[in-house]
Amino acid sequence: MRILVVEDEQKLADALRAGLEERHYEVRTALTGEDGFFLVNSEVFDLIILDVMLPRRDGLEVLRALRKQHLETPVLLLTARDTVEDRVAGLDSGADDYLIKPFAFPELLARIRALLRRGRADQILRLKLADLEMDLVTRRVARGDKSIELTAKEYELLDYLLRHAGHAVSREMLAREVWHSSTLATPLDNVIDVTMARLRRKIDEPFDRKLIHTIRGVGFQAASDES
Ligand code: CA
Repeated sequence: MRILVVEDEQKLADALRAGLEERHYEVRTALTGEDGFFLVNSEVFDLIILDVMLPRRDGLEVLRALRKQHLETPVLLLTARDTVEDRVAGLDSGADDYLIKPFAFPELLARIRALLRRGRADQILRLKLADLEMDLVTRRVARGDKSIELTAKEYELLDYLLRHAGHAVSREMLAREVWHSSTLATPLDNVIDVTMARLRRKIDEPFDRKLIHTIRGVGFQAASDES
């Protein structure tokens, strides 16, 4: 699989290349939007990782130009900003998924795998589990027609659980990929449990059907039934 990384921070571009090559992806990097645009037009890629904040021609401009040429390659945007407007602008420009900087490398790998599996036809605009729905553009969370208000961290936690629905998720994974911490110190362990408890109070407590389950000795799992 060939991946193009368009990122103007040389250190990050190099780190991404090294990490992805280690996973046997073939990687090309471009440090400017122009170079990225040129490479996409001269070589074939399976996926493009595109930084939004690039000097001169920014990521969204490049993306719009590529989509105008009917290029169907999946594009994962890297963005330092995270507002509804940014997400809408990105998706309107033809992005397939987002990752907010700073991100954990394993999370990037998970997104890449998902995009390569899915291709462009099916944009990830919402996550669903039974009657629970997360709209990733508006950030609206609901069960059935009942809206649920989440804090930013609860939202991130639920997002992570739903992206890994049907799989057990450990506190170590949550520490690394939701709390962006490489160590699981006891206070963080507590923070994870408290946030999880709050999330379950909102997502599960008012409803008969429970969607977040405790897996003894492992951690947690989002699933539509107990088994
Ligand atoms: Ca940048």
